[in-house]
Amino acid sequence: MRSKIVAGNWKMNKNSADTEAVLTELSAKLPDTQAEVMVAPTYVNLAGAVRTLESSVIEVIAQNMHFAESGAYTGEISADMLLGINVETVIIGHSERRAYFGETDEILAKKVVAALEKNMRVMFCFGEELEDRKSENHFKVVETQLKNALFSLDASAWSKIVLAYEPVWAIGTGETASPEQAQEMHAFIRKTITEAYDASVANNVSILYGGSVKPANAKEIFGKPDVDGGLIGGASLVADDFVAIIESI
Ligand code: PEP
Repeated sequence: MRSKIVAGNWKMNKNSADTEAVLTELSAKLPDTQAEVMVAPTYVNLAGAVRTLESSVIEVIAQNMHFAESGAYTGEISADMLLGINVETVIIGHSERRAYFGETDEILAKKVVAALEKNMRVMFCFGEELEDRKSENHFKVVETQLKNALFSLDASAWSKIVLAYEPVWAIGTGETASPEQAQEMHAFIRKTITEAYDASVANNVSILYGGSVKPANAKEIFGKPDVDGGLIGGASLVADDFVAIIESI
């Protein structure tokens, strides 16, 4: 059975003092929920965040990792380094990594395999650009992204995968996919996975929506049957807003 998940991606925001303060507030205000709650602070604050949330159900996750085990990759972080500080879930394929750091489907496929080999959970992000949607290519683009990065995996690997559909035109723009657009794409994603694998794999994978989710629109988006939660950027930086979004699920 797939789980409901609300995850906050803090990107390159908050120093260590702010990270500790917001996580302490979040932990104190966390509503009673069936959903898994996750937060992805920046690398240098991960270990501190794990300590701050030691007795909390909130999971600290990473925003990225390298595919190599170790070696001459200046500025990079490996799966073992994350596991060494008890970070067991990693976001891979965020559109900002694709757009600003040249991460291709091929690189992302290697990262996914590397994380799964270490038994980490992968939150895989993908989604179309505005031009793709305008030219009605969005289904094809999403299908290709999934195929290139994930469809070589064994069916058994999918128990460690969470998907985050994030239309690029809705990330950090204040523009959100309508609940109907989100549902339409999530249903398409499940159909595509059913065709590549089977209905059991498709029905058991959590598919999150990401793109300007806010307290004001979260409930309607999360109310759609194929939307299992959200990956939240901007609104996860303020504890009260993130709490309101968690309450919406
Ligand atoms: C994101 O970066 O994954 C995201 C969804 O950002 P925002 O909520 O700010 O659009």
